[in-house]
Amino acid sequence: MNDIKLALLGSEGAGKSAVLVRFLTKRFIGEYASNANSLYHKRFSIDGRQLNLEVFDPCSQSGESRCILEEPVDWADGFVVVYTISDRTSFLNAKNILAQIKESRRETCKGDIPICLLGNKQDLCHSRQVSEEEGRSLAQENKCLFQEVSAAEDYLEISNLFTKLIRHVMEQLKLRGDRRRYSGSKSMAKLINNVFGKRRKSV
Ligand code: GDP
Ligand code: MG
Repeated sequence: MNDIKLALLGSEGAGKSAVLVRFLTKRFIGEYASNANSLYHKRFSIDGRQLNLEVFDPCSQSGESRCILEEPVDWADGFVVVYTISDRTSFLNAKNILAQIKESRRETCKGDIPICLLGNKQDLCHSRQVSEEEGRSLAQENKCLFQEVSAAEDYLEISNLFTKLIRHVMEQLKLRGDRRRYSGSKSMAKLINNVFGKRRKSV
Protein backbone atom coordinates (compact mmCIF):
# COMPACT_ATOMS: atom_id res chain seq x y z
CA MET A 1 0.00 0.00 0.00
CA ASN A 2 1.25 3.45 -0.86
CA ASP A 3 1.92 5.94 1.89
CA ILE A 4 1.15 9.49 0.92
CA LYS A 5 2.21 12.30 3.18
CA LEU A 6 0.78 15.77 2.88
CA ALA A 7 1.43 18.90 4.93
CA LEU A 8 -0.86 21.90 5.23
CA LEU A 9 0.89 25.20 5.55
CA GLY A 10 -0.30 28.78 5.86
CA SER A 11 -1.03 31.62 8.24
CA GLU A 12 -2.90 31.17 11.46
CA GLY A 13 -6.60 31.46 10.75
CA ALA A 14 -6.28 30.90 7.00
CA GLY A 15 -8.49 27.85 7.35
CA LYS A 16 -6.00 24.97 7.14
CA SER A 17 -7.87 22.84 9.67
CA ALA A 18 -11.25 23.78 8.20
CA VAL A 19 -10.15 22.76 4.70
CA LEU A 20 -8.66 19.50 5.92
CA VAL A 21 -11.65 18.55 8.07
CA ARG A 22 -13.93 19.36 5.15
CA PHE A 23 -11.92 17.01 2.94
CA LEU A 24 -11.72 14.22 5.49
CA THR A 25 -15.24 14.33 6.92
CA LYS A 26 -17.24 16.37 4.39
CA ARG A 27 -18.23 18.67 7.23
CA PHE A 28 -17.51 22.21 8.27
CA ILE A 29 -17.31 22.49 12.00
CA GLY A 30 -16.39 26.14 12.41
CA GLU A 31 -13.93 26.08 15.28
CA TYR A 32 -10.97 23.77 15.50
CA ALA A 33 -8.46 23.22 18.27
CA SER A 34 -5.48 25.26 17.20
CA ASN A 35 -3.04 24.74 20.03
CA ALA A 36 -1.49 21.45 18.95
CA ASN A 37 0.03 19.94 15.87
CA SER A 38 -2.08 17.12 14.51
CA LEU A 39 -1.36 14.18 12.29
CA TYR A 40 -4.43 12.76 10.59
CA HIS A 41 -4.61 9.28 9.08
CA LYS A 42 -7.03 8.09 6.50
CA ARG A 43 -7.32 5.08 4.22
CA PHE A 44 -8.07 6.42 0.84
CA SER A 45 -8.79 4.78 -2.45
CA ILE A 46 -7.91 6.41 -5.73
CA ASP A 47 -8.14 4.91 -9.20
CA GLY A 48 -8.74 1.58 -7.53
CA ARG A 49 -5.57 1.76 -5.43
CA GLN A 50 -5.56 1.76 -1.66
CA LEU A 51 -3.55 4.54 -0.09
CA ASN A 52 -2.53 5.33 3.40
CA LEU A 53 -2.90 9.05 3.67
CA GLU A 54 -1.20 11.01 6.43
CA VAL A 55 -1.79 14.72 6.70
CA PHE A 56 0.11 17.03 9.00
CA ASP A 57 -1.89 20.01 10.22
CA PRO A 58 0.38 22.29 12.22
CA CYS A 59 -0.77 24.58 14.95
CA SER A 60 0.15 28.15 14.42
CA GLN A 61 3.44 29.33 15.64
CA SER A 62 4.32 32.70 16.99
CA GLY A 63 6.57 34.71 14.73
CA GLU A 64 4.41 33.62 11.86
CA SER A 65 6.56 34.87 9.00
CA ARG A 66 8.89 31.91 9.32
CA CYS A 67 5.97 29.74 10.03
CA ILE A 68 7.22 26.51 8.61
CA LEU A 69 9.44 24.01 10.24
CA GLU A 70 12.05 22.34 8.15
CA GLU A 71 10.90 18.88 9.14
CA PRO A 72 7.42 18.96 7.64
CA VAL A 73 8.94 20.17 4.41
CA ASP A 74 11.39 17.28 4.39
CA TRP A 75 8.78 14.82 5.52
CA ALA A 76 5.89 15.61 3.20
CA ASP A 77 5.44 14.37 -0.36
CA GLY A 78 3.02 17.15 -1.19
CA PHE A 79 1.75 20.43 0.21
CA VAL A 80 -1.46 22.34 0.53
CA VAL A 81 -0.67 26.02 1.02
CA VAL A 82 -3.67 27.98 2.28
CA TYR A 83 -4.33 31.70 2.42
CA THR A 84 -7.49 33.73 2.96
CA ILE A 85 -8.74 35.84 0.07
CA SER A 86 -9.84 38.51 2.55
CA ASP A 87 -6.41 38.79 4.19
CA ARG A 88 -3.52 40.05 2.12
CA THR A 89 -0.99 39.24 4.84
CA SER A 90 -1.91 35.58 4.60
CA PHE A 91 -1.33 35.74 0.82
CA LEU A 92 2.14 37.26 1.29
CA ASN A 93 2.84 34.56 3.82
CA ALA A 94 1.77 31.89 1.33
CA LYS A 95 4.20 33.41 -1.16
CA ASN A 96 7.01 33.08 1.39
CA ILE A 97 6.05 29.52 2.16
CA LEU A 98 6.15 28.56 -1.52
CA ALA A 99 9.61 30.10 -1.79
CA GLN A 100 10.75 28.18 1.27
CA ILE A 101 9.46 24.88 -0.07
CA LYS A 102 11.24 25.46 -3.37
CA GLU A 103 14.43 26.43 -1.62
CA SER A 104 14.54 23.40 0.62
CA ARG A 105 13.72 21.00 -2.24
CA ARG A 106 16.06 22.57 -4.77
CA GLU A 107 18.65 19.83 -4.65
CA THR A 108 16.57 16.77 -3.96
CA CYS A 109 13.51 17.19 -6.11
CA LYS A 110 13.56 16.68 -9.80
CA GLY A 111 10.35 17.67 -11.53
CA ASP A 112 7.58 19.70 -10.01
CA ILE A 113 6.90 19.54 -6.32
CA PRO A 114 3.27 18.57 -5.77
CA ILE A 115 1.71 21.69 -4.27
CA CYS A 116 -1.79 23.05 -4.23
CA LEU A 117 -2.35 26.73 -3.48
CA LEU A 118 -5.78 27.40 -1.98
CA GLY A 119 -7.39 30.80 -1.70
CA ASN A 120 -9.84 30.01 1.09
CA LYS A 121 -12.95 31.83 2.40
CA GLN A 122 -14.28 32.55 -1.03
CA ASP A 123 -17.64 33.13 0.64
CA LEU A 124 -16.12 36.33 2.10
CA CYS A 125 -15.58 37.83 -1.35
CA HIS A 126 -17.33 41.05 -0.28
CA SER A 127 -14.21 41.77 1.81
CA ARG A 128 -11.73 40.41 -0.70
CA GLN A 129 -8.14 41.72 -0.50
CA VAL A 130 -6.54 39.34 -2.99
CA SER A 131 -7.85 38.99 -6.52
CA GLU A 132 -8.32 35.58 -8.04
CA GLU A 133 -5.88 36.60 -10.78
CA GLU A 134 -3.12 37.26 -8.25
CA GLY A 135 -3.65 33.84 -6.74
CA ARG A 136 -3.60 32.19 -10.13
CA SER A 137 -0.42 33.89 -11.26
CA LEU A 138 1.37 33.06 -8.01
CA ALA A 139 0.39 29.44 -8.60
CA GLN A 140 1.60 29.57 -12.20
CA GLU A 141 4.95 31.02 -11.16
CA ASN A 142 5.34 28.13 -8.76
CA LYS A 143 3.84 25.48 -11.01
CA CYS A 144 1.19 24.51 -8.53
CA LEU A 145 -2.48 23.71 -8.63
CA PHE A 146 -4.71 26.60 -7.67
CA GLN A 147 -8.28 27.23 -6.74
CA GLU A 148 -10.33 29.57 -4.65
CA VAL A 149 -12.54 27.58 -2.30
CA SER A 150 -14.73 27.99 0.72
CA ALA A 151 -14.25 25.41 3.44
CA ALA A 152 -17.49 26.76 4.87
CA GLU A 153 -19.48 26.04 1.73
CA ASP A 154 -17.70 23.61 -0.60
CA TYR A 155 -16.94 19.97 -0.37
CA LEU A 156 -16.59 18.80 -3.95
CA GLU A 157 -14.05 21.36 -5.07
CA ILE A 158 -11.86 20.73 -2.05
CA SER A 159 -12.14 17.00 -2.49
CA ASN A 160 -11.29 17.23 -6.20
CA LEU A 161 -8.22 19.32 -5.47
CA PHE A 162 -6.89 16.94 -2.85
CA THR A 163 -7.49 14.08 -5.28
CA LYS A 164 -5.52 15.87 -8.02
CA LEU A 165 -2.72 16.62 -5.60
CA ILE A 166 -2.58 13.02 -4.43
CA ARG A 167 -2.41 11.83 -8.05
CA HIS A 168 0.47 14.22 -8.64
CA VAL A 169 2.25 12.86 -5.55
CA MET A 170 1.75 9.30 -6.79
CA GLU A 171 3.30 10.20 -10.15
CA GLN A 172 6.27 11.81 -8.46
CA LEU A 173 6.80 8.85 -6.16
CA LYS A 174 6.69 6.52 -9.14
CA LEU A 175 9.31 8.64 -10.90
CA ARG A 176 11.55 8.37 -7.90
CA GLY A 177 11.01 4.63 -7.53
CA ASP A 178 10.81 2.97 -4.16
CA ARG A 179 13.53 4.95 -2.50
CA ARG A 180 12.53 6.13 0.93
CA ARG A 181 11.59 9.77 0.63
CA TYR A 182 12.48 10.95 4.07
CA SER A 183 16.14 10.18 4.39
CA GLY A 184 16.94 12.03 7.59
CA SER A 185 18.60 10.19 10.42
CA LYS A 186 15.54 10.36 12.66
CA SER A 187 13.00 7.62 12.50
CA MET A 188 9.52 8.65 11.51
CA ALA A 189 8.04 7.93 14.93
CA LYS A 190 10.68 10.04 16.57
CA LEU A 191 10.15 12.80 14.08
CA ILE A 192 6.43 12.88 14.75
CA ASN A 193 6.85 12.81 18.49
CA ASN A 194 9.55 15.41 18.59
CA VAL A 195 8.38 17.79 16.00
CA PHE A 196 4.73 17.26 15.47
CA GLY A 197 3.69 16.74 19.06
CA LYS A 198 2.08 13.59 20.32
CA ARG A 199 -1.47 14.04 19.13
CA ARG A 200 -2.53 11.75 16.38
CA LYS A 201 -5.97 11.60 14.99
CA SER A 202 -7.83 9.08 12.98
CA VAL A 203 -10.90 9.94 11.01
P1 GDP B 1 -6.07 27.52 10.69
O1 GDP B 1 -5.47 28.28 11.83
O2 GDP B 1 -5.41 27.84 9.40
O3 GDP B 1 -6.16 26.04 10.94
O4 GDP B 1 -7.59 28.07 10.52
P2 GDP B 1 -8.96 27.38 11.02
O5 GDP B 1 -9.30 26.22 10.17
O6 GDP B 1 -8.89 27.15 12.49
O7 GDP B 1 -9.99 28.53 10.66
C1 GDP B 1 -9.87 29.83 11.25
C2 GDP B 1 -11.24 30.49 11.30
O8 GDP B 1 -11.73 30.73 9.99
C3 GDP B 1 -12.30 29.62 12.00
O9 GDP B 1 -13.11 30.48 12.77
C4 GDP B 1 -13.08 29.03 10.85
O10 GDP B 1 -14.42 28.78 11.19
C5 GDP B 1 -13.00 30.14 9.81
N1 GDP B 1 -13.07 29.62 8.43
C6 GDP B 1 -12.34 28.62 7.89
N2 GDP B 1 -12.66 28.43 6.61
C7 GDP B 1 -13.62 29.34 6.31
C8 GDP B 1 -14.34 29.67 5.11
O11 GDP B 1 -14.20 29.06 4.04
N3 GDP B 1 -15.22 30.71 5.21
C9 GDP B 1 -15.44 31.39 6.36
N4 GDP B 1 -16.32 32.37 6.33
N5 GDP B 1 -14.75 31.12 7.50
C10 GDP B 1 -13.87 30.10 7.48
MG1 MG C 1 -5.54 24.87 12.51
